[in-house]
This record gives sequence, structure tokens and C-alpha cells, in this order.
Amino acid sequence: MYAELLIHAEWILTVDSENRQLTDHAIAVADGRIQAILPYEEARRTIQAEQTVELPGHVLIPGLINAHTHASMSLLRGLADDLPLMTWLHEHIWPTEGRWVDASFVADGTRLAVLEMLRGGVTCYNDMYFHPEVSAQVTAEAGMRAVIGMIVVDFPTGYAASPDEYIAKGLALHERYRDHPLIRVAWAPHAPYSVSDAPLQRIATLAFELGVPVHIHLHETRDEVENAVNAHGERPFARLDRLGLIGPSLVSVHMTQLEDAEIARLAETGASVVHCPESNLKLASGFCPVAKLLDAGVNVALGTDGAASNNDLNLLGEMRTAALLGKGVSGSASAVPATEALRMATINGARALGLDNEIGSIELGKSADLVALDLRDPHTQPLYHPVSQLVYAAGRHQVRQVWVRGRQVIRDGAPTTLHVAEVLSEAQIWAARIAE
Ligand SMILES: [Zn+2]
Repeated sequence: MYAELLIHAEWILTVDSENRQLTDHAIAVADGRIQAILPYEEARRTIQAEQTVELPGHVLIPGLINAHTHASMSLLRGLADDLPLMTWLHEHIWPTEGRWVDASFVADGTRLAVLEMLRGGVTCYNDMYFHPEVSAQVTAEAGMRAVIGMIVVDFPTGYAASPDEYIAKGLALHERYRDHPLIRVAWAPHAPYSVSDAPLQRIATLAFELGVPVHIHLHETRDEVENAVNAHGERPFARLDRLGLIGPSLVSVHMTQLEDAEIARLAETGASVVHCPESNLKLASGFCPVAKLLDAGVNVALGTDGAASNNDLNLLGEMRTAALLGKGVSGSASAVPATEALRMATINGARALGLDNEIGSIELGKSADLVALDLRDPHTQPLYHPVSQLVYAAGRHQVRQVWVRGRQVIRDGAPTTLHVAEVLSEAQIWAARIAE
């Protein structure tokens, strides 16, 4: 058999339905897809590969999926910290965005985020921000995969003037990326408190017609829920359910305030939750009941949120925080085990985004979105269980090789599609302007 690429890793964590861990196996890649997974000895005899990559001491995993972020907010990293959510938003983030966010801000910010994510083993992200056509283009140019949000809010911005215009621009984006190999789109109404009933209803219909997800911040804080109940006598979750948005295409982000009936409803309808533990901790937003959701059979993915509230786009760190916080919040040390944290950062993210036939695990026929980490560092030795080192001890500098659709985008820790010095210099120019 012929293959373009043969990757021989000491360990492979497949994240398939049995969480199989393979030792001394190889993966053959052709046309960007996984064509064979077999013991290395057998691969050497039967596969004729154009290129062979030897990875002793490395663990190979499916590319990590950041299921919620605002990529270009990386330019606002560290601008305002240690403030409550509403003060942070109203006095710092929104005024800065109002003054500075345009297409070139989004291009430079997305490039910085894409560089950071690829170097951290993230191969796909789910974005929500203005000027999504710019994020889509920058991401595709870097050879990364993304689901780009067709953002909708009630208020005018430099990007669009009315909900109708946001939706029209979203539809144009959908049309443009209809058959793109790396870029998909999703509706991204910002939150229940920033989008009114009429556009939400229209989004529910359009999501069904186009077969795309609906990505929304939901029940982020207790205040959000209490304000809605005081103003309209209805919890935001109930309102979205009434408008037809609670279903398999829902990608609901944060969900720190959940009643048992809401958890049951999420499970029954096949809706997904994106847990952003570090953003929730930093903004003191509350705790998502992850163990309860998983026990109920709800699909829970992981996200970093934007770099302004985290402050990094580090899915390795997010896995560790989710595994630790899940234990603390549930009072059970066996809640959110390492294998489950890895599933949340890979296959569960893929399922939330409707991409689980394509990415999220190492299985035959899936896209070769792969990440190799070198575990031969003092802090990841000795090694009993690769998944334990990966989730509880590994750092991003151990990400050495990254492939997206079979194309190597990180080689020996360095990007092949982006120029580091240029990306950093653009970011510094923005910081100098913004800090004036
Ligand atoms: Zn967010």
C-alpha cells in the first residue's frame, strides 16, 4: 500500500468509542485521510511511504478542538483583568472594541490566535466575532480548521447595522464557504440578552434549513438568569426552548446555572454544552455542573473563551482545569477522569460542531488532524499512563508536530504556514495603539 505519510508514535490515544491506547503503532495518511492504523512492524513491511516520521517518546492524539473562542480578542489579552463580568465588559472591553475593531484588527488578532492555538495542539476552533469573513480567510490561509460564527446582535457595530444585516452577511459567508475543506460556519447569536426574539426565531429556521449549528452564550452567570426572570418572567433557557433553539444543533456555552429539568431537556434533545472553566473562574461566573451533565448523557465540549478573559487559548490547560474543577464542584475525585477530559477536548467538540464524522478521533477514514507531544521531559516522567501525563502534567512546549488534513502546520515546534516575528510585531503595534 502507498501512503504520503507514515507516522510512527510510541503511544497513540485514539479517542475512539473504546478509548483504545496503542503502543508502537503507525498511522498511514493519504489524501489527507487516515488510511491505516497498524503495528509498526507490519507497517514497515506493507506500506510504502513517501515520508516517515519517527516519534519515540511521543504520544499522538487527535487534534484538540477549542469549541468556544473569540479569536481576535487575543489582541486584548491582559488589557483589563481582575474585574467582575459587567464592569469588565461595559467599562473596558466594549469601549475598546467600539473604538478599534475593524477588519484589520480581526485579521491580525486571528493570526495571533491561530499561531498560539496551532502551537498548542489545537487544530480546530469554534469562533464568535465580528468580521467573520476575515477570520475565515486568515484561518484557511494558515491551514487550520474552524467553524466561523455568523454573528448576530441587536445593536449596530462597525460590522453591521441591524439584525437583518448581520443575518444577510452570515448567509453570504455560508454561501462562500459552502464546500471549503477547512472552514464551516455556524449561527452565532451572541446571547439571549443581546438578541431579541425575532432574529432568534429566524436563526432557528435558518439553522434547520442550512443544517448548521447555533452557537450562543447561555446562562453564563446567575445575574443573567435573574435579570431575565425579573424582566420577562422566563429563564433564558425556557425562552430559547420556546423559540425552537434547544435541539441537536445547539452549542450552548458556559451553562453555570442549570436546573435538573434543563439538564434532562439538554440530554433528551441532543444539545451540546461548551464548558469554559478558566473563563468562568476568572470572571467568577459560577460553575458548570459538568459531572451531572456527563452522567445525564449530555455532550460536553471544552472551550477557552476569548484571550481577554482566560488569558490563553490553551486547551491542554483547559483539560486539566476541567478535570480538577469537575472533581471539586461534584465533590467526587472520580468525576471527569483524564480520559473524559481528553474526549471533551476532541470528539465531544467535534460532535457539538457536527464534525464527528470528519475529526475528533483517530479512526480509519477520518481527516488526519493529528498532534504529537514529546513526553520525555522531567515533568512528564516516569510514565505509567500517557493520558495522565497529557491531562495532568504536559505543557504546550511539548507539542512538537501538528498536522491538519495531512498537511504539517507545526514542524519541530515551529509553524510552517505563519511567520512568527511578523505576527508578533503586528500584535505589538496594536497594543501600542490601544494602550495610548
Ligand atoms: Zn465567549
